[in-house]
Amino acid sequence: MKNASIEQTLKDSEQVLKAQYHFSTLDKPPDAQINARMEAEVLLAFTLKKSRTYLRTYPQQGIDPAVLGQFDKLIARRTKGEPVAYITGQREFWSMELITNEETLIPRPETELLVELALEKISQKNATHIAEIGTGTGAIALAIAREKPDCTVIAIDISQNALNVAKQNATRYALNNLHFHCGSWFEPVANDTFDIIISNPPYVAEDDPHLQQGDLRFEPLIALESGPDGLDAIRHLILKGQNRLAKGGWLLMEHGYDQREKIITLLHDAGYTNLSWHDDIYKLPRVILGQKE
Ligand code: GLN
Repeated sequence: MKNASIEQTLKDSEQVLKAQYHFSTLDKPPDAQINARMEAEVLLAFTLKKSRTYLRTYPQQGIDPAVLGQFDKLIARRTKGEPVAYITGQREFWSMELITNEETLIPRPETELLVELALEKISQKNATHIAEIGTGTGAIALAIAREKPDCTVIAIDISQNALNVAKQNATRYALNNLHFHCGSWFEPVANDTFDIIISNPPYVAEDDPHLQQGDLRFEPLIALESGPDGLDAIRHLILKGQNRLAKGGWLLMEHGYDQREKIITLLHDAGYTNLSWHDDIYKLPRVILGQKE
């Protein structure tokens, strides 16, 4: 029998994945959730050790039955809900291929907005001293450290296991302006001040049903869940961050799609000025900035 082609294999597995689609992720429009074709391509490219471009360039190429068997196993794992990024152990963010595992939140495309806004502020202010709270894979800190070699970026996480992943990622991109500290919130930098404090904190409410759905079921709860209204971490960053910001420094935070108004009030009440808020690639409220007077 003729070996199955790349294209036929992708079509078949796309159908299998679509039939199993219980992969909804929190606060994304439905069309962003139906990405079975993309997932099939990522998993096949990973199995073949080729790029997705290769798959598109050689759609008629046959796949060796043994390799097809390996691929089918990955598709089976995915149909049980395991996130693609944990199956492949990597996820692209800001044009970097980052190591990702169960110890870390999976970097999301909408978080690139946080990086874009930070880079803008860094350029405007000639900022040099940057802190990231809750770095996970290190995605945000790495992106900034790579783009701004004159900045020193301090990335903090309470999870040593997450930091081990972040450190591997930093080594991969040979960044020597990026430093990691294990600790709670600002504790490792209790005597420092920063021009920019940036965070994609946990912000999902503890009873939010999304925590039991899709990729979130597999991700570390500590990176997702933040008290009854999901704002515990954000409140903490607003209050404690103020002491760690230099005069005129900026706090930048990612947040949930329905939290903007509440956070505006929190920032106002804490005395931050020049607030600005921004929608993500899905046109959902996602990032907020405030300046310390
Ligand atoms: N936006 C993330 C989600 O969809 C949640 C990430 C976070 O809490 N920082 O699932």
